Amino acid sequence: LPRHRVAMIGSGAWACTAVKLIAENMASPEAAEKFDSEVRMWVYEEEVAGRKLTELINETHENVKYMPGVPLGANVVACPDLLQTVKDATILVFCAPHQFIHRIVKQLVGHISKDMVAISLTKGMRVRPDGPQLISELIRKELGVDCSVLMGANIAGDIARGELSEATIAYNVLANGQLLQEVFERAYFYTTLVPDVVGAEMCGTLKNIVALAAGFVEGLGLGPNTRAAIMRAGLNEMRRFAKALYPTVRDDTFFESCGVADLIATCYGGRNRLVAKAYVEAEVAGRRASFEELEAQLLGGQKLQGALTSDEVQEILRRRGWERDYPLFTTVNRIVKALLPASSITEYKAAAALHV
Ligand code: NAD
Ligand code: 13P
Repeated sequence: LPRHRVAMIGSGAWACTAVKLIAENMASPEAAEKFDSEVRMWVYEEEVAGRKLTELINETHENVKYMPGVPLGANVVACPDLLQTVKDATILVFCAPHQFIHRIVKQLVGHISKDMVAISLTKGMRVRPDGPQLISELIRKELGVDCSVLMGANIAGDIARGELSEATIAYNVLANGQLLQEVFERAYFYTTLVPDVVGAEMCGTLKNIVALAAGFVEGLGLGPNTRAAIMRAGLNEMRRFAKALYPTVRDDTFFESCGVADLIATCYGGRNRLVAKAYVEAEVAGRRASFEELEAQLLGGQKLQGALTSDEVQEILRRRGWERDYPLFTTVNRIVKALLPASSITEYKAAAALHV
């Protein structure tokens, strides 16, 4: 039988950590019969210290900009050419920030075999005139391939250090889910299969909005009761909104790593929470800073997903006349848009009913 070849599309913090997990599996002697050990990784080329990032990665086996100090594996080959990266691949892993995926996928149209097994690790969605589109739907529709998702409580740096974590692999085709489990599962990275792609992906997408709310609460200096209240309300809105848009979404999915566990991890340790906290601290100190400025100042090129997702979700709420039904999402968006002060988060029910 021909062996599978995995290609990674993306090279940020999570993409590098995920490629490390994959590369460890692909390099193991037990995998040799079924998988090719080389893993190509598409890198959005940029210059770092006067050198091309791809060259640096291939020399040092490290992504010195997005995951410094972490060996990715000598079997990872960084490639600046998207089509060269996917050539001969049978398993495609998408892990670029969600705002870039459409452009990437468009370049792949016509170059992907229908037998390709795809999986998205990207958290986010697209809003088009005719409605929302999840990243897995976009990949499936544009490339004509099956697309699973891997979502979970997965702060990249912690997994890169080998700390035990879990993730949910959600599949449409069980055999593909099982194959992908072989690609990702490690002794320090447990994966669970669930048959609810849309539910898992909605969890991963929407928790980034709730993480902003948790960051506001932390920046205001409030304690665990308030943070828990905001997280509970956020989880409730996540579940209602996911089911309102996609009635097939299962309640059970919210109890998996992709649901409540990711919400907890992101609200305590993620970048969205970090930037939202800094936003409040700047506001309190009287030096207002936009989310874009703080992203650039604090994340060193990494991308914040929550502020964009908040805008995208709010667009859907507005078009459907649902804003008042989702007061936490609505209040977060008004804070992100600087229409309300961050302190409104503790009065989100009243704040969402205001005409601003
Ligand atoms: P990142 O935010 O660390 O890095 C940003 C990446 O975007 C870099 O690789 C950069 O080269 C690339 N980039 C910049 N401009 C680009 C362009 N015009 N076109 C294409 N790429 C461009 O990336 P990440 O952490 O790997 O995040 C990818 C996805 O994974 C996101 O949806 C995120 O929500 C999700 N995720 C992240 C984590 C985490 O802890 N970092 C964990 C789970 C899921
Ligand atoms: P942040 O993008 O907020 O860091 O969240 C990372 C994540 O999705 C952890 O599961």
